[in-house]
Amino acid sequence: MNLDSQPGHIDQIKQTNAGVVYRLIDHYGPISRIELSKRAQLAPASITKIVREMLDAHLVQETEFQEPGSRGRPAIGLILDTVAWHYLAVRIQPGFITLTLRDLSSRTLQEDRLPLAASAAMPLLTRLQELVDAFFIRHQHLLERLTAIAITLPGLINAASGVVHRMPGYDVQEMPLGETLSARSGLPVFVQHDISAWTLAESLFGASRGAQDVIQIVIDETVGAGVISGGQLLHKSGRALVEIGHTQIDPYGQQCYCGNHGCLETVASTGSLLQLAAQRLPAQPESRLHQQALTLESLCQAALQGDRLAHDVIAGVGHHIGRMLAMMVNIFNPQQILIGSPLNLAADVLFPAVSSTIRQQALPAYSEAIQLAPAAFNDPGTLGAAALIKDAMYSGHLLVKLLQG
Ligand SMILES: [Zn+2]
Repeated sequence: MNLDSQPGHIDQIKQTNAGVVYRLIDHYGPISRIELSKRAQLAPASITKIVREMLDAHLVQETEFQEPGSRGRPAIGLILDTVAWHYLAVRIQPGFITLTLRDLSSRTLQEDRLPLAASAAMPLLTRLQELVDAFFIRHQHLLERLTAIAITLPGLINAASGVVHRMPGYDVQEMPLGETLSARSGLPVFVQHDISAWTLAESLFGASRGAQDVIQIVIDETVGAGVISGGQLLHKSGRALVEIGHTQIDPYGQQCYCGNHGCLETVASTGSLLQLAAQRLPAQPESRLHQQALTLESLCQAALQGDRLAHDVIAGVGHHIGRMLAMMVNIFNPQQILIGSPLNLAADVLFPAVSSTIRQQALPAYSEAIQLAPAAFNDPGTLGAAALIKDAMYSGHLLVKLLQG
């Protein structure tokens, strides 16, 4: 129980209600005030008041529409007004940075992808500030009212404080990213782990839309997961990752960079997978992988064409991931599991291995009905950051800031 929260606090209630109304208009608009009052379970007078504030702030607008089943005069409905509100969505990946200007409908207005060298004379925080400043100056002619900045990145992050403790590929220690950019721009800044934000993006725009309990697993150069439980992202405002990559899968396995042995990441990351295939190749002279460069793509293609080595290596990853997922299934009882990975190219090999392992190792009552599906976005780009903004509007957190002007 969180003893610090004050669920009855009047500002908190106002924020929550405004967020609910905003979300309903986004989902069902055009929607009448009466329908809104029913769906939000709020008194018509409260709806009138909240909607009035949103109209005044140009966050919603009225439009005439024909109510379903009615043949009378058009009704007055509410829809979101998103065009004049912009925000900056940023994604940092090892080696480069993507900056996208979006409006509140999440539409892309401008996107720049720039190199971000691992080391430079200037500290990373200063470089990031300058990249953001330069982006705003470069695209000044496009800018409408700026609402926020959202940033996603890999590493150890405290999403509540916006501090990046560590970041792979960069010399980062306790970098106060959120606070610094906020002080510089005067805007609220949201910082979140890349995989958590991707999980949120799938739930708002992608493959897990509408699902309340979801596990999303990412198998890439690193292995990680995001969990949505009861409609909420787990660890939303803390140290952000469901850190499964460093759970021991093989006690006799090779040493991992974290110091332990046989972590999931040492047997299921794409790098370890290619390494394993290369090691086994000399003993399998009939493999078609001898005829081409060994890449993730060629490995997936070969597996789909029935190459035994490629098939075994990818199915092996599926079994390791399945073991981890079986434990998670028993804890979270999800309705859906999403896999985001370049290995989805060989989903016909990977997915059966994952699901058969889950079925063997998790509680049958929990594992029976689970849908296993690929993530909708192969490369989510800055959609993760866009999801952070949408989530902050829906929770009312960012919305009330905009209402207050
Ligand atoms: Zn490890």
